[in-house]
Amino acid sequence: MTRQVEVIGHRGARGLFPENTIEGFRQCLVLGLRSFELDVGMTADGVVVVSHDPALNPTITRDAAGHWLSGTAPLIHHLTFDALRSYDVGRIRLGTPYRTLFRAQKGCDGARIPRLADVLRLSAEATFIIELKTDPRHPDWTADPVTLARAVLGVVDAAGAAGRVILESFDWRGPRYVRRTRPEIRLAWLTRDETVRDATRWWDGISPVDFGHSVPAVVAAQGGHIWAPAADSVTRVSVAEAHALGLGVIPWTVNRRAA
Ligand code: MG
Repeated sequence: MTRQVEVIGHRGARGLFPENTIEGFRQCLVLGLRSFELDVGMTADGVVVVSHDPALNPTITRDAAGHWLSGTAPLIHHLTFDALRSYDVGRIRLGTPYRTLFRAQKGCDGARIPRLADVLRLSAEATFIIELKTDPRHPDWTADPVTLARAVLGVVDAAGAAGRVILESFDWRGPRYVRRTRPEIRLAWLTRDETVRDATRWWDGISPVDFGHSVPAVVAAQGGHIWAPAADSVTRVSVAEAHALGLGVIPWTVNRRAA
């Protein structure tokens, strides 16, 4: 049997280019990458944008005057899309741990936080794993999960991309809404140790206790297609169990070659 490992550009491909930017996605496409993971949130005026963090990240963000953000940065959910566009996210600040981790990342000054719609338009064939960034511990940081999921589906449909996206979230309220209303959309069910420990909160009331403490069994019971566990938490046994349940497994995030 030939085994293939699919290469997925995480946050675009942040090891190479500024994360979650049009400039980064475009250069990845030139390199031949056709699978991406990206993260989404919503602005104050309801625009679905591609960003990992609920607030602007001072490590990668400069204001219109070119100054690095400091202190408490504004929440994306509190900014209009126009206001968001005044920030430059094209480079990692020197002297930060993020810069050390991704020292090969090529800067691209002037890059902005993009709309999901504009990213989906970059390629008619690429696959996008879209992470809905909501957090049940912080309902005031983002749009509510159903509002965000609905808006993302609207953008995906307008782009004719429903067949080549996978939606995912640690906060399962969004994916469960998608499951109920759009069962044809592929989903990945993200987990990490913390969300398993506090599952009833993260999983919309579901407890792994009811599934013999098996996370793959919980995912399969959601009508899941893909389990997306933290890479350092998966074992041969849990992957075999997921495969036996008919699930694909997408571990995250593998940043080092040995891993
Ligand atoms: Mg993500």
